[in-house]
Amino acid sequence: MKRKGVAVLGATGSVGRNALDVIARFPRRFRATALCAGSNGRALASLARIFRPDVVCLWEGDEKALRKELPRGTRLLFGEQGMSEAVCAGNADIVLAAASGISSIRPVIAAAKGGKRIALANKELLVTAGKFLTAAARRGGAEILPVDSEHSAVFQAIGGSRRDDILRVILTASGGPFRNHTLSQMRSATVPEALGHPTWRMGAKITVDCATMMNKGLEVIEATWLFGLPAGRIDVLIHPQSVIHSMVEFRDGSVLAQMGVPDMRIPIGYALAYPERLPMELPRLRPHRMETWGFEAPDRKRFPALSLAYAAAETGGTAPAVLNGANEEAVRAFLSRRIGFTDIVRIVDRVLSGWSESFTARSLPDVLAADTLSRRDARERISSVRRTFPS
Ligand code: NDP
Ligand code: MG
Repeated sequence: MKRKGVAVLGATGSVGRNALDVIARFPRRFRATALCAGSNGRALASLARIFRPDVVCLWEGDEKALRKELPRGTRLLFGEQGMSEAVCAGNADIVLAAASGISSIRPVIAAAKGGKRIALANKELLVTAGKFLTAAARRGGAEILPVDSEHSAVFQAIGGSRRDDILRVILTASGGPFRNHTLSQMRSATVPEALGHPTWRMGAKITVDCATMMNKGLEVIEATWLFGLPAGRIDVLIHPQSVIHSMVEFRDGSVLAQMGVPDMRIPIGYALAYPERLPMELPRLRPHRMETWGFEAPDRKRFPALSLAYAAAETGGTAPAVLNGANEEAVRAFLSRRIGFTDIVRIVDRVLSGWSESFTARSLPDVLAADTLSRRDARERISSVRRTFPS
């Protein structure tokens, strides 16, 4: 079996490190050919010394300091151009897209055009530029395999079924740390409380998104692109134990679900090895040890992010990019204690409802321009919030 080369975008992050753990467990199947990160050169260099990739790429940072720490023979690249080169290189068969934010959009589109398998963790890319990323993949004959656990579950449940047989997709959500909080409790929620996810350990931005349930809203939009379904056929169901990762209902009344312990190495391994399954030695699901498996409908009043995301999906065009850009800015402001928890979704709502530009998206630059404008608008609204926040 030929070893598969994997370019890992976001190598120093939560998904990236889980992916490197999978790669390290299966050295005969996979090799990390490229490791890319944002600005943490030190962490990137220490990974490079372990994994010995051909190239490392940093989005921005101190070139001199990083060069000294790299192992002999590892090339150092920078920025968008460097990332594109790293992912398009002939030795990379799979691109694991797990850099946060949307700066990797052009390199990932280039990799899709080049026919690489895209193991996609980064939902913001599909939310913002789903039309252009999926078109590039079609043109290049590239597969986009979901890494997001819910979408991996849906992908597995669909299997070889015909699209016409799918009635609806049901994305499960843990409900986050504030599932049982009142609105007034949420208003005074602190950053550590928002970062206290009950079942998954992830990067800070996505963890806050889980607390507002914007994460699930973004996942609804992500699912529209991955499975070619309108948002109206994608439902959200709260399942606090995070054991059922999602379900698909077929027109004959059958519902198929995928289950497992909440561990990102399972969907990552599936996307890397598909159609095979890796013999993972991880803690196993023990259903008989679980007392209850609960399900409840999400409360759209306390979690208005869901309705905003459905509305953006319905509007289409640049609306999801506007939603995502404003949300990223607002989450960043919350994490640095400049706004309160409930201000996050309020700001996204204001940016969307005050949008005076067209939502037409004819090209990638259209969505990127909407993203820039939306962030600017959100930052202005953030700077006019004048209160103090608990830390
Ligand atoms: P983290 O915050 O833990 O890590 C982010 C990674 O992206 C870091 O390696 C960071 O590098 C890198 N990065 C940031 N900016 C850039 C840039 N401009 N160019 C290249 N790399 C960059 O995030 P997560 O791992 O939690 O999430 C990553 C993505 O995966 C997100 O899109 C998230 O929505 C998605 N996802 C995550 C899940 C999870 O379990 N964590 C589950 C499902 C989806 P540096 O260290 O240098 O800052
Ligand atoms: Mg998810």
